[in-house]
Amino acid sequence: MALGEFDVIRRFFGQPALNFTRPQLVLGPGDDAAILSVPPGHQLVMSMDTLNEDVHFPSGCDAFLLAQRCLLVNLSDLAAMGAEPLAFTLAISLPERRDEWLAAFSGGLADVAQAYQCPLIGGDTTRGPLSVTIQVHGLVPEGKAVLRSGARVGDGIYVTGELGNAAAALWFLKSDPRLNTSRLNSSDVQFFNSAFYLPTAQIAAGIALRGLASAGLDISDGLVSDLGHLLTAGACDGAGQSIGAVLEADNIPLSEPFLRCVSEQHQLQLALSGGDDYQLCVCVPPGHQAAAQQVMSAAGVRFTRIGQVVAASGIRLRTAEGDQPVSWQGYNHFA
Ligand code: ADP
Ligand code: MG
Repeated sequence: MALGEFDVIRRFFGQPALNFTRPQLVLGPGDDAAILSVPPGHQLVMSMDTLNEDVHFPSGCDAFLLAQRCLLVNLSDLAAMGAEPLAFTLAISLPERRDEWLAAFSGGLADVAQAYQCPLIGGDTTRGPLSVTIQVHGLVPEGKAVLRSGARVGDGIYVTGELGNAAAALWFLKSDPRLNTSRLNSSDVQFFNSAFYLPTAQIAAGIALRGLASAGLDISDGLVSDLGHLLTAGACDGAGQSIGAVLEADNIPLSEPFLRCVSEQHQLQLALSGGDDYQLCVCVPPGHQAAAQQVMSAAGVRFTRIGQVVAASGIRLRTAEGDQPVSWQGYNHFA
């Protein structure tokens, strides 16, 4: 990239707040490649996500928040696998050099990198339409990763945290009339902004669930859509028998600001189909449920049983009026 590619890398992506050292990091940025050592008995877990301007974030959005969100959604994938963050790499394409933007962006990255002890160890910097790709690297004890496959009939279905906050936050950010803004107070504004831009990567929860969850993932496209992936993977992995789920409407965890600001008629649909929450959804066999509840309460993470895996295809929602099939879809880029 013109305009001092190496100067940009050094000033913004070479700062100590991002390039700090940690065990297993042998060589950080500056050479032709970085080096990580994998401790004996461990496996390297990798995941990558790209965020493009005008597709994944509006142009002109806050660079500090954007950077935080980019790294957090990647870390969430490690959480879903039960992996501990190790380091990340960054490929960034920029239309022009804007130092103020770069300072905010690298500052946001540094905040999250520090919080999760996950340093930046290399990358690529190019000129082009604004696009950010992050690859995270994590560690998991050999054979202990929580996979999408493994759900079986009789498993309980659990989620961390609350659902729908990020989808309600998008209504808030887009001034959607379905969000009752007259009921918003000043701390709600903060709450919804954070729900969208600062998802919690549930690392501690993912690690605690190793060996207890039969299957799991993080909810990025909406519960119904992502739970569908678990059921499909479980059926392929199992006897080939199709499996489905019954969800209990009364047990879907919703936040207080969500309950107050989203009208009742929209609440369930938003919580079940809205994306971007990055909470974990896991299946837990009956024999592990008490232990799972216990480790999650020790980790201080809200952990709610929302339903059960059943021997029938599809997802059904149980309400006071009985069971009904759920048809709300999650977000699909090519739909
Ligand atoms: P090469 O031409 O050998 O691929 P580069 O010029 O792309 O090298 O990068 C030089 C060094 O700077 C490498 O160590 C690379 O990892 C690092 N680097 C480049 N861009 C970034 C970035 N956005 N963040 C962190 N490190 C970067
Ligand atoms: Mg390069």
